Amino acid sequence: MAHIETQCLHEGYKPGNGQPKAMPIYQSTTYTYDSTNHIGQLFDLTADGHMYSRISNPTVGFVEEKIAAMEGGVGALCTTSGQAASLLSILNIAKAGDHFISASTIYGGTVNLFAVTLKKFGIDCTFVDADAPVDQLQKAFRPNTKAVFGETIANPAIAVFDIEKFAKLAHANGVPLIVDNTFATPVLCRPFEWGADIVVHSTTKYMDGHAVQVGGALVDSGNFNWENGKFEELCTPDESYHGVTYTKQFGKAAYITKARVQLMRDFGMYPAAHTAFLLDLGLQTLAVRMERHCRNAEQVAQYLAARSEVEFVNYPTLESSPYAALAKKYLPKGCAGVISFSVKGGRESAVKFMDSLQLANNVVHVADICTCVLHPASSTHRQLTDEQLVAAGITPGLIRLSVGLEHIDDILADLEKGFAALHQ
Ligand code: PLP
Repeated sequence: MAHIETQCLHEGYKPGNGQPKAMPIYQSTTYTYDSTNHIGQLFDLTADGHMYSRISNPTVGFVEEKIAAMEGGVGALCTTSGQAASLLSILNIAKAGDHFISASTIYGGTVNLFAVTLKKFGIDCTFVDADAPVDQLQKAFRPNTKAVFGETIANPAIAVFDIEKFAKLAHANGVPLIVDNTFATPVLCRPFEWGADIVVHSTTKYMDGHAVQVGGALVDSGNFNWENGKFEELCTPDESYHGVTYTKQFGKAAYITKARVQLMRDFGMYPAAHTAFLLDLGLQTLAVRMERHCRNAEQVAQYLAARSEVEFVNYPTLESSPYAALAKKYLPKGCAGVISFSVKGGRESAVKFMDSLQLANNVVHVADICTCVLHPASSTHRQLTDEQLVAAGITPGLIRLSVGLEHIDDILADLEKGFAALHQ
C-alpha cells in the first residue's frame, strides 16, 4: 500500500492515456444507456454504473475511492455534511426501539443529533465518560444496543479516544465501533487499524481545509460480522429493494452498499460533483498540511501552558495532559491543530481575549488553513445544558483555538495581543 502522502495525490481519479490530468467534474444528474434492460440491471444492482446523482456520481465516486483508500476501508459514501454522515452511520443499523452508546466528549451538534433528534425517531443514546473503566462502561450496554460511537480527538475537549479499548468492548457485545475521525484525519490515525468498524468524517474540516465546502463521509472497514444475529436488516431480504440481502450480495461491502442504495436513495443527502471536486483539491495537500498544523499547534500549546493568565490547556502532547499516553499510541505523528484552553476570569475574559486577536478569525469553523478561534459555550455547544457542557469538557471560559499554517511567530504575536487585552 502506498504511503498516505501518495494516496492523497494518486488514489481516486486515475487518468488514462490522453485523459485530463485534473479530475473532471461530471455535473450531470443522470446517465444515458442504450437499453432499458441495462437500466433494469442497474436497479437490480447487478450491473455497475451510475443511475442518478442522488445515489452516485463519477466525480463524487473518485473522492469516495480516495477516502476509502486513505482510511483502509472497503468503501466510502460522501454526504452533504458531517452531520449527515453521523446520522447515516447510526440509521444504517438502528431503528425505532434500538439503543446505542456514545462518548460524551463529542461535537455539540452530534450530541444534539443523538440526544434529541434521534430520540424523536425512537432511537436512544446513552452518553458515557470515555475514560471510565471497562467494567463501568459495560453497564451501559442493553440487549437492543446496536453501536458504540466516539471521536478520535474530541471537539472541543481535545480528549483522545481509546479506540482499541472501545473496539474490544463493542465487539464483546456483538456491535460495531463507529469513530468520528474528523480532527485526526487518516493522515494522523487510521481507526480501522485499532479495531474500529466504521469511520465518519466531517470533510468540512481538515480534509477540505480551505473553508469552501460543507461535506461528510462514511467509511466501511468491511470487517464487522453483520451475521451475528443482531443486524437483521443487513442479512435478510430488503423488501424496499426488491429483496436484496446485503451481506449475501455484497459481502464485506454490505454496510456501505445498504447506506447508499437504501438510505441515500431515501434521504438524498448526496453532494454535488463540483463540491466533490473542491474536496479533492483539499485532500491532495492534506498530508503536508497536517504536518505543519501539528508542529505549530505543539508550539502554541507549550506557549499557552506557560502563561499565568491561562487556567488550563487541552492538548494531548503536553506532559500535563491526561491523554499524553493515548496520544503516543494513537497519534504518534502529532495531534492536529486544535487546542482548547481556558483563560482565568471565565466568559468575560475569554470574549475580551478573542475580540483582541487580529490574525485569528473569529468564526464558526475549525480545522482550517488559517488560524481561527471560537467560544464553544456561546456557539457550537449553545444548545447543551450545563450538565452536558461539563460532560463535553466545556467551561464558560473555554476558547477553541484552531492553529493554522501561518508562521509560528505571527500566530504567537497575535496571541500576545489577546493576553495584553486581559491586563488593560
Ligand atoms: N464531527 C466533528 C468532530 C465536527 O467538529 C463537526 C462539525 O464541527 C461535525 C462532525 C459535523 O460536521 P458538519 O459541520 O460538516 O456537518
